[in-house]
Amino acid sequence: MELKLHDTLTREKRVFTPIDPSRVRMYVCGPTVYDFAHIGNARPVIVFDVLFRLLRHIYGEKHVTYVRNVTDVDDKINARAAERGISIRDLTEETYKNFKQDVAALGCLPPTIEPRATEHINEMKTLIERLVKSDHAYVAEENVLFHVPSMKDYGKLSNRPLDEMIAGARVEVAPYKKDPQDFVLWKPSKPGEPAWPSPAGIKTPGRPGWHIECSAMSEAHLGEHFDIHGGGIDLIFPHHENELAQSVCAFHTPVMANFWMHNGFLQVEGEKMSKSLGNFITIHDLLKDWPGEAVRFTMLQTHYRQPMNWTLAGLRESQKTLDHWYELTADAAPGYLCADALDALLDDVNTPKAFAALHELRGEAAKGVKPAAACLKASAKLMGILQNSVAEWSAFRPGSTAVDEHKVVSLIDARNAARRAKNFKEADRIRDELKAMGVELEDTKDGKTKWKIAR
Ligand code: AMP
Ligand code: ZN
Repeated sequence: MELKLHDTLTREKRVFTPIDPSRVRMYVCGPTVYDFAHIGNARPVIVFDVLFRLLRHIYGEKHVTYVRNVTDVDDKINARAAERGISIRDLTEETYKNFKQDVAALGCLPPTIEPRATEHINEMKTLIERLVKSDHAYVAEENVLFHVPSMKDYGKLSNRPLDEMIAGARVEVAPYKKDPQDFVLWKPSKPGEPAWPSPAGIKTPGRPGWHIECSAMSEAHLGEHFDIHGGGIDLIFPHHENELAQSVCAFHTPVMANFWMHNGFLQVEGEKMSKSLGNFITIHDLLKDWPGEAVRFTMLQTHYRQPMNWTLAGLRESQKTLDHWYELTADAAPGYLCADALDALLDDVNTPKAFAALHELRGEAAKGVKPAAACLKASAKLMGILQNSVAEWSAFRPGSTAVDEHKVVSLIDARNAARRAKNFKEADRIRDELKAMGVELEDTKDGKTKWKIAR
């Protein structure tokens, strides 16, 4: 099996060869935990979950380590905790718990390790000291700054023109910077802000900048040089550019990660998602009305590198398709993987192409070809689709909690008993009672009764 992945740094699609096939290592930048994650945040989580599943399929479950960090120290967190009048710890714990619930409902496997920034402050300080000692960083007014001109190749990942990078860096005006592009590794904390004893001989307690946390945590859990580094396209500059600079200068490795992968941005109904436009959708709210698998299915209809337009119509379509797929595969045990679907995934995780192959299988399965249904089930599962039982899937109704499955089954039994006793009036009454619960029955030729939730 040959996997090809696109690397942002070299701007090419290459064959993926792990540094160590017995320990394939992937790092993805995780959430900053101050509020519910939105549907744009769900995109990298779902996309890299599919890649995680694919890598596990190729190299074996035990041979893939997936690290997704939690940013639990950040100015947005401080501000939100103050606004809500709760402690930072309570805010980050609550938000992280919600995030984990949300992404589990989207069918995502937990990463192997989910390190928290606040638990890696010492590693960050060690890294900062190292950069200061090697003249890649300096102390200025109790800040530690990375000195960008100290790195010859700075800017290769984002490949932006120098004047644009300077303009971008200027957003953060600081007169003590030696160069306008220099960025913060450590900054002093004001009273009331989270603070730790500072590195590099600085007296005032302080806190880390954002970029240094990922260099420190990836080294702690994956080593100085690993296979894949991922995140959304907006992270290329400055976050990933700066992570790369820090790690490469501290460890003298060539690239930090062999493959840099970035998902495209998600828009909602053709517009940038924003609170002011009123089109801001949290995963949490979406899950009140839609099954997580329909959300996941919708997300994977677009190739991960393309921009994506999230629409309600698309979500409805996904739900209908999945209704059909569940129905077709209800009695099938997972069979062989569909070669065309697997090939598509091996070609830079081309999920829309894989789904096109599955749609063809669905056509065969609908004609009653049993191996096609088995193949559809196995191949969909590889992408984290068709993970529920038919009953679980059909028990989900928008805006309602699941129906009581035991009650449905016992009413069906009672109805069948009434029919056997030729008490058709009672049988019809039970059918109506089930109908009122939103349950639709289908009596099959072989005398069984199937049920599903009417939509
Ligand atoms: P943040 O918490 O803002 O750092 O974002 C967490 C992850 O979500 C990062 O990988 C971002 O690149 C990604 N992300 C944020 N907004 C979007 C969006 N609209 N579309 C796709 N990815 C996004
Ligand atoms: Zn990061």
